[in-house]
Amino acid sequence: MTSKLTGTTALVTGASSGIGAATARQLAALGASVALVARRRDRLEALAAEIEQSGGTALVIEADITNRAQAQAAVDQTVERFGQLDILVNNAGLMLLGPVVGADPEDWDRMIAVNVQGLLHTTHAALPHLLKAVEDSPRRVADIVNISSIAGRVAWNGYGVYNLTKFGVNGFTESLRQEVTQRHVRVGVLEPGGVDTELGSHNTAEVRGEMIDPFYEQTEVLAPEDIADGVAYMVTRPRHASIGELWIMPTDQA
Ligand code: NDP
Repeated sequence: MTSKLTGTTALVTGASSGIGAATARQLAALGASVALVARRRDRLEALAAEIEQSGGTALVIEADITNRAQAQAAVDQTVERFGQLDILVNNAGLMLLGPVVGADPEDWDRMIAVNVQGLLHTTHAALPHLLKAVEDSPRRVADIVNISSIAGRVAWNGYGVYNLTKFGVNGFTESLRQEVTQRHVRVGVLEPGGVDTELGSHNTAEVRGEMIDPFYEQTEVLAPEDIADGVAYMVTRPRHASIGELWIMPTDQA
């Protein structure tokens, strides 16, 4: 059976949980061969088995994308196995909240390393292949979807460096869109509001208790599948239509 993405290859970073795992499942269901990239190999293997059982195709790539060589190798392995790369979903991310005053700068380094530098590493490695896919594949278009956040549009007290990384992702996305869109690589940003994932779990008990848990208790948040639907929408538009920005919020979140 042919589906909208049959014959394409997608690479999803942060595919071991949350939005990345849901996106990989969704793209595979639409017919893409999917490279699953993250550090937790066991999670990736379980997801790959699930995708294969449903008739899809998946490749497990254990990589830390903050390491430029590992990010490059992840892209290289994908192209080696599937022969091409049509879709890059830059989803891996880290959110460590709290005041700037008295913060541990190591936390900032870790966020900047994943949310900004990791995204740059995979993007840089993928671009030559995406440009080539436009020429070679019947689809004649390629896609980068960067998972930013409402925190890339609005700044809040206590979100400082996370805001910095996501505002940065938005700016970079629009600049790159202008650079490559006329070569038919579509570059867009997807900005979720609250989604039910592991994202908040890496924070201290104090931050979770004050800034994260109350929000999740009071709000009917999105499911990872809601965001995966958004990614699927962006990458299945006809060749002449490019979604530069998609902002998906829980109805409940003001
Ligand atoms: P999760 O914590 O569930 O997923 C984060 C993913 O990133 C994991 O798969 C993790 O895998 C991966 N990751 C982290 N560091 C690295 C690294 N160095 N190298 C490779 N992979 C890495 O959270 P979400 O699914 O929520 O997050 C996905 C994206 O969505 C993030 O960019 C986040 O900022 C964004 N977002 C989330 C929102 C939410 O409310 N949940 C709202 C708005 C945006 P592993 O640990 O195995 O490496």
